[in-house]
Amino acid sequence: MSIRETDPEVYRILVKEQEKQRGTIGLIPSENIVSKEVLRLSGSIFTNKYAEGYPGKRYYGGCKFIDEIEELAISRACKLFSAEHANVQPHSGSQANMACYFSVLKPGDKILAMNVFSGGHLTHGLHSNFSGTFYNAVFYDVNRESETIDYENVREIALKEKPRMLICGASSYSRIIDFGKLSVIAREVGAYMLADIAHISGLVVAGLHPTPVPYADFVTSTTHKTLRGPRGGFILCKREYHDKLDSSIIPGIQGGPLMHIIAAKAATFRNAMKPAFAEYQKQIIINSKKLCDAFKNRNYRIVSGGTDNHLMVVDLRNKGITGSEFETLLESVGIIANKNLIPFDPKPPRTTSGIRFGTPLVTSRGMKERDMETIAEWIDETLKHRQNSRLLKEIAKKVRRFAREFPIYPSDQT
Ligand SMILES: *Cc1c(COP(=O)(O)O)cnc(C)c1O
Repeated sequence: MSIRETDPEVYRILVKEQEKQRGTIGLIPSENIVSKEVLRLSGSIFTNKYAEGYPGKRYYGGCKFIDEIEELAISRACKLFSAEHANVQPHSGSQANMACYFSVLKPGDKILAMNVFSGGHLTHGLHSNFSGTFYNAVFYDVNRESETIDYENVREIALKEKPRMLICGASSYSRIIDFGKLSVIAREVGAYMLADIAHISGLVVAGLHPTPVPYADFVTSTTHKTLRGPRGGFILCKREYHDKLDSSIIPGIQGGPLMHIIAAKAATFRNAMKPAFAEYQKQIIINSKKLCDAFKNRNYRIVSGGTDNHLMVVDLRNKGITGSEFETLLESVGIIANKNLIPFDPKPPRTTSGIRFGTPLVTSRGMKERDMETIAEWIDETLKHRQNSRLLKEIAKKVRRFAREFPIYPSDQT
């Protein structure tokens, strides 16, 4: 069976997307390239099964092997993160967060989280997100000078606001987060603590970022960012929240789990236990630091002055271009990145003064330090020659040729 014959219309779009992925350099820090194994399981017959409920407690018959695969995913997640309980059913990172809130908060309760300008996520209380409508969200920012989390300031706000939950973790924060310190603050004010490691879970597994698991009541993550699994989410929690948490996923906010994705999650957790995965995570950080230095050498200002992890946010105010303009310009030469707010950004989220770069995807494709230097040079050239369409075309050609030297799936013929 070939989709080319059954649905040429879809096939044509698939091929275009495939060609785009092969011929571009992807620097969006939340994206990655899954293994063929994950790809295969994500498209497997597990998708045919309804399985509302949990292993041994389903609302549907015929779940014998479904139970086996979910139990395997749960036990691997617990082992990988040394967690007491895992729920592998959240369809996404956002739903993982929602389920945690629903399990211990009531509508109107106060939550304290990092402002989206400082790197927080929209599910951490943004007014236009469910988290900002259902809950009374208050925020902490990074320090204006250091552009890093000011733990004493977080403590002051927590003491004043007395939130029911302290949320930590971020989407565009390039420094180590001290979950231990934040848990002391949470305990002092009697708040639950949720650590959202959507971006950094791969680094955590590899021991390259301290784990929040011993400190936090709840830990949420996606499986598709540094963890390099299928699109989805999962939650780790202390044993005491096991029942509340599970019932806040189903019947709380979801129906049937995506069993094909859960099978792929099981494979992802196993892969993450291998030494090769730790090596991969190390290279992500090596590449990230290298890319960051290459920008600094070209007079780009990096928010907080550098990076400890897989990403960086570049402040473009001294370069005379906005984040959204730069995003579009880079896409025209085949470099994919996304605009990003900088701390206390004078520009709105649709424009922004910053752009975010990350290395998980290019590292999966086998790129190394010297390739980061090349990429930074092309990015800088693109900006410098943005009025010169002939030069931009030349850069685009080079980018395409270069990207294709790092196949997404090396065994593929085409
Ligand atoms: C990506 C992200 C999420 C949500 O992930 P989705 O799967 O897109 O819903 C949640 N929290 C943080 C910090 C993230 O970066």
